[in-house]
Amino acid sequence: MTVRPRELSHTVASFATRTPTLPPATHTNSYALGSRQVLLVEPATPYEDEQRAWIEWARGLASSGRTPVAIVLTHHHVDHVGGVDVLSRELGLPVWAHAETATRVDVPVARRLHDGDVLDLAGPAPERWRVLHTPGHAPGHVCLHDEDEGVVVVGDMVASVGTILIAPGDGDMTVYLAQLDRLAGLGARVALPAHGEPIDEPAALFRHYIAHRLMREAKVLAALAKAGGGSADELLPDAYDDVPKVMWPFAMLSMLAHLEKLERDGRVRTQGPRYIPAS
Ligand SMILES: [Zn+2]
Repeated sequence: MTVRPRELSHTVASFATRTPTLPPATHTNSYALGSRQVLLVEPATPYEDEQRAWIEWARGLASSGRTPVAIVLTHHHVDHVGGVDVLSRELGLPVWAHAETATRVDVPVARRLHDGDVLDLAGPAPERWRVLHTPGHAPGHVCLHDEDEGVVVVGDMVASVGTILIAPGDGDMTVYLAQLDRLAGLGARVALPAHGEPIDEPAALFRHYIAHRLMREAKVLAALAKAGGGSADELLPDAYDDVPKVMWPFAMLSMLAHLEKLERDGRVRTQGPRYIPAS
């Protein structure tokens, strides 16, 4: 049973709801940022019982002097915006998101968030959350960074439960790796992911994610070199021989994102459905 709500600090609370997310994760964390004016991040759940609980939580913030002023979307994926319509309507709150997210959701977005924007919240002392546009997992993905407290809300950039899928279309492996490197450089004290527990000293995890993806890229290249080329179906068993077969449909998407990057890097060529080493 997930404990909720949780008061994580004097400026951050979390509330996890059940969502149709990628196993083994089962929940998405919403966050209430601010000690007086509050941003509600991740209106995630599409389920009615969970939406009722979320609304009760949001309304209950008033008992500790907190007033929600907006709902913020980290990105458009279904396990992050499943409740945005109902929750924004019930609470009478505007929705804020990056333009690339705004075009992918069915609700009006009142404020478009840009990289570098500072969201000022009135509190006992001023509280400031800086918007970081961090595409790679999704085109409009944003993180929110409280530089004074060293806290960064990271959405689906990393997770402490489950894995982050980089799939062709929404995802871009080159950009994702660059944004992970940027997050590692923030020197944050704690990262708050959409799935799983808060992450202390998150730079190590960001760097671990980069190393893991580069390890996979090397395995894809090695499989390609060994076979002298092949279709995605032919390459997958070798490139993901350490991954359980039940995960292979996801692995396939991830491998295609790696191949896209490798082609861009000039290390792979395509010939019809076949991938060929370029060097
Ligand atoms: Zn996502």
